[in-house]
Order: sequence, then structure tokens, then C-alpha cells
Amino acid sequence: MSDCIFCKIVRGELPAAKVYEDEKILAFLDIKPVNHGHTQVITKSHYFNLLETPEEELSAIMAVVKKIAPAIMKAVGSAGFNLGVNNGSVAGQLVPHVHFHIMPRRQGDGHELWHGLEYAPGEMSAVAEAIKRAL
Ligand code: 5GP
Ligand code: ZN
Repeated sequence: MSDCIFCKIVRGELPAAKVYEDEKILAFLDIKPVNHGHTQVITKSHYFNLLETPEEELSAIMAVVKKIAPAIMKAVGSAGFNLGVNNGSVAGQLVPHVHFHIMPRRQGDGHELWHGLEYAPGEMSAVAEAIKRAL
């Protein structure tokens, strides 16, 4: 896609600190990292988000996540990482090209995950049934 930032990185029209590349997949450092080593893993082909990405491309992304996450952690001295995918603007997706965030974590880095809500009695099974009906 001509005006997509990540497609421009794939084409070499914008600079990026690349850490891995193969036929289908590119991984490069996020320009505004949650922690140092925060990496974007993307398909070289343009897909809007996870739901629009073919399964074989998603498998290729996951294979690269597994391959490079240990190297990222080793390089920046972290013991774990969060893997994130924002789907849709309401979920925080800013770049309209499928990308998986690998975010290395350190003890006491101050990043909190979400707080859990509560279900009212009966609500949990109702939601589960609604999801199953929608499948
Ligand atoms: P989203 O919010 O869409 O899930 O995440 C987009 C991510 O892409 C953000 O973390 C942002 O910092 C990163 N990003 C946006 N523009 C660029 C860029 O030009 N280069 C790099 N390396 N990362 C970018
Ligand atoms: Zn794109």
C-alpha cells in the first residue's frame, strides 16, 4: 500500500533498525519503545489487521516471534516479554498494517497490565453463550 508507513519500511523508503528479515516477514525496533528492544514483527505483504491476515502469514509471524524473542531478551537483559496485537482504532491500532509487538519486560519497569473487571452472577455464562452463538 503506497502510503502505509510499514509498507514504506518494507520497501526501504523509510529507515528502520531491522533485526530480522526473511521472504515473508520483517522485524524492526519500535521507534517509541515501551522498553528498549521493543520490536515490531510484520508481514511484508500489506494486511490491515490480524483478522484480515491469512493463517499461513500469521504462522510465519509466530515462527519469527519464537525465533527472535529470546535474542531480544538476551540483548536487553530482560527475563520476559509481552506479545501484543492491537486490532482496530478502539484497541489502540494506529498503523493500519498487521504487526505484533514484542515488548521485553523488566522487574519493576512500571508497566501495568489491565485491571480485571467482575462479572455479575450469570453474566459470564451469558457472554460465553453469546460468543458461541456468534461463531
Ligand atoms: P499500534 O498502536 O498501531 O499497535 O502500534 C504502532 C507502533 O508503531 C507504535 O508502537 C509506534 O511507536 C510504532 N511506529 C510508528 N511509526 C513508526 C516508524 O516510522 N518506525 C518505527 N520503527 N516504528 C513506528
Ligand atoms: Zn502496509
